[in-house]
Amino acid sequence: MKTNYHTHTTWCDGTASAADMVRAAVAKGFGELGFSSHAMFPEAALGWTLTREKIGGYVAEIRELSRRNADSIRIFCGVEADYVPGAASPDRAAYAAFGLDYLIGSVHFVTGADGARIPVDMSPESLFAGIRDSFGGSPEAFVREYFRLEREMAARGGFDLFGHPDLVRKFNAKRPWFDEGAPWYLEEIERTADAIARCGIPVEVNTGAISRGWMNDAYPSARFRDALRARGVRFVLSSDAHSPDALDCAFDRFGRCEDFVAPRWTEPSAPGADALAFPPEKG
Ligand SMILES: [Zn+2]
Ligand SMILES: [Zn+2]
Repeated sequence: MKTNYHTHTTWCDGTASAADMVRAAVAKGFGELGFSSHAMFPEAALGWTLTREKIGGYVAEIRELSRRNADSIRIFCGVEADYVPGAASPDRAAYAAFGLDYLIGSVHFVTGADGARIPVDMSPESLFAGIRDSFGGSPEAFVREYFRLEREMAARGGFDLFGHPDLVRKFNAKRPWFDEGAPWYLEEIERTADAIARCGIPVEVNTGAISRGWMNDAYPSARFRDALRARGVRFVLSSDAHSPDALDCAFDRFGRCEDFVAPRWTEPSAPGADALAFPPEKG
């Protein structure tokens, strides 16, 4: 069954409405579609993330689309929840009040010793300026801190799908700034694979950088996927779509080479209930 649980809309930084994304998913033959607007609860918010004021409207709209399209597609309502230590965390307690189905846990920001919050994937310019100003000009220091946060998020757990675990690669194909074959980098992905395996949360194989033209590969890299697969980690194929055309970007390529698990979903959780978890089984 064709599925995608990583979908953005105009509720955050996507370019299309949720209704347009549903129409496209049905046309493309998806059996299930999950929405995952950006969110930074409990404390933080940015211009494109859901706020406490907006999240009720978001959930209500997705539930209505789910009812209206029940004959053609199953629709789920989640969020892509940031991990920013001290400000935002993808844990069910922080999101329990909103009645969501699931949480994707993602790291998009790395904080420097000076307290500056550097966006990992906004633009090469902001990334490189942040490394220069807050990480002593050391790409290795920045990347190691990024993976340390990934491991910390894994150790805390409380979410359902591990988002793009090597997002630091996003600009590396077009604007190379570190060596993905360096021993220190390989050590980081091995250590991070250990942490992800321990938390038991499935990892997405995310084609979002392909649809946006940054690289011709998914997150995580083939090397990282091998490390995860060797530890028994489960994979879920995601497009991280920000537009209707991207909903199944490169799915033919990665759907063939990966042993993907289609998660079994339970009924939407009631407000206050735990978010649903992916089943602990191998596909
Ligand atoms: Zn993301
Ligand atoms: Zn995303």
